[in-house]
Amino acid sequence: MNVYDVVVIGGGPAGLMAAGTAAENGAKVLLIEKMGSIGRKLLISGKGRCNITNTITNTKEFVSHFGKSGKFLYQAFNAFSSTDTISFFNDKGMVTKVDKDFKIFPMSDLAEEVLSILTRYLKEYKVEIRQGVIIQKINTIDNKITSISTATGDILCKSVILATGGKSYPKTGSTGEGYNYAERLGHSIIEPRPALVPVVVKEGWIKKLQGMSPSDALFSIYADGKKISDDKSDAVFTENGLSGPAIYNLTRKIDITQPNLELAIDFIPDIEQHILDKEIAEYINENSRKKLKNMLEKYFQPKLLALAIEQTGTDPEIRSCDLKKEDRKKLVTILKNLRFNIEKFAGFERAVVTAGGIDLKEIDGKTMGSKLIKNLYFAGEIINLDGPTGGFNLQLCWSTGRLAGKSSSDD
Ligand SMILES: Cc1cc2nc3c(=O)[nH]c(=O)nc-3n(C[C@H](O)[C@H](O)[C@H](O)COP(=O)(O)OP(=O)(O)OC[C@H]3O[C@@H](n4cnc5c(N)ncnc54)[C@H](O)[C@@H]3O)c2cc1C
Repeated sequence: MNVYDVVVIGGGPAGLMAAGTAAENGAKVLLIEKMGSIGRKLLISGKGRCNITNTITNTKEFVSHFGKSGKFLYQAFNAFSSTDTISFFNDKGMVTKVDKDFKIFPMSDLAEEVLSILTRYLKEYKVEIRQGVIIQKINTIDNKITSISTATGDILCKSVILATGGKSYPKTGSTGEGYNYAERLGHSIIEPRPALVPVVVKEGWIKKLQGMSPSDALFSIYADGKKISDDKSDAVFTENGLSGPAIYNLTRKIDITQPNLELAIDFIPDIEQHILDKEIAEYINENSRKKLKNMLEKYFQPKLLALAIEQTGTDPEIRSCDLKKEDRKKLVTILKNLRFNIEKFAGFERAVVTAGGIDLKEIDGKTMGSKLIKNLYFAGEIINLDGPTGGFNLQLCWSTGRLAGKSSSDD
C-alpha cells in the first residue's frame, strides 16, 4: 500500500506552503482538502488583493506584533522571514509592490496570482492533492500517527501536518475540525474566539453612513469614559457598525465584557476642536449666502454632513449665515468626536482571524512539531497566535508552513 512521507491536512496558505516545502525537500507528499477546491480564504484575503506580508524584516519587531506569545514565532520567522516570502514569490514570477507604507501585495492586486504560484509550486514537486476528502479518524500507535481513516479508505503516512486553520469565515472551509483532531490526540485547545472583527453599535442611525470610508480619521475606544486605545488606519461604515483595519486592530486590544464601551471618531484629528471651530466660523462668514447643505463639504463627506445637520435639528436649506453658534459648535463636535455605544463584536462569520487554538506550550517552536505526538506538526492559524492586519497573519502561515514542511520531511 502507498505510504506517504508527509500528509498535510488543509489546503490553505499554511498547508500549501508546508506541502510544497516537504516535497521540495524530497518527501512524497499528499495534501488533503475537505472542500471542493483549495485556498478559498486566500482568494478573499485583502479584499481579493492578498496582503501577503509586510516590510518588517527585524524578527524582534515582527514577533512583537503578535503580543506576549509572539516570541514563539522567533524560529519560524528566522527560518522564513518576510524577505524570504517576497523572494519566494518573486522567484516564481510574481511581481510584488509595497502599498500603504508597509504592506506587500502582488503587483497585479490579484489573490488568484498568489494561489496559482502555490499551485504550480506543488505541481512542480509532485504533491498529490485530494479535494473533497472527509477525514474520519487519525490513528496512532504509541503516540505516533500511523494512518488517517477517510470515507474512501485509510491513508498510511510517516508524518502529518495539521493546517486546518481556525473557525472564521466558516464558508471557506475553516470550521475548526482541526481542533477536534488535535484534542483527540491529547492536545489542549485555548478557547477559539473571533478576532479582527467589525463592531456593532447601538445607534441605529449609523445605517445612514453605510458605505462611507473616512480617510485619515482617528478611531478611539473608551471604556467607562477612559480611553483604552486608538488607531488611524482605514475603516468603513456598515449597516450596523464599523469594519476595516482600524476597527479590527482596536478589537484585538479590548475585552468586550468591559463596561460602557464607546467608539469615538475624530474625522479631522490634526486640528484641535477650538481651532477647527474658528476656521469653520470664518469659512461660513466668507460663504454666508450659500445654503448650509451645500457649503460644508470641504469638511464633511456628504453622508456625514446630512446626518450632522439632521442631528443638530437645523434646516439644511437655511443660508449658512443663519446657522446658530451653538449649532455650529454641535457640527464641529460631530466632526471631532462622533460617539457610538458598542453593542457587540461580530462573530466568526465576519472575523478575519481566530484567536485561540492549539496551546503553544505543546508545540516545539524550533520544528513546529507536537510535543505529545512524535510525527505530528502544526502550521498556520490553527495555533494559538493571531496578528494584526498588515500581512502578519499570512506571514505566520508562510513561516510556520515552511518550518513544518521542512521538519516533517527531515525525519
Ligand atoms: C476576509 C479575510 C481577509 C483576509 N486578508 C488577509 C490579508 O490580506 N493578509 C493577511 O495576512 N491575512 C489575511 N487574512 C487572514 C488569512 O487569510 C488567514 O490567517 C489564513 O488564510 C490562514 O491560513 P491557514 O492555512 O492557516 O488556514 P485557512 O486559510 O483557513 O485554510 C485551512 C484549510 O483547511 C481546510 N480544512 C479544514 N478542516 C479540514 C478537514 N477536516 N479536512 C481537510 N481540510 C480541512 C479548509 O477547507 C481550508 O481550505 C484574511 C482573512 C479573511 C477572512
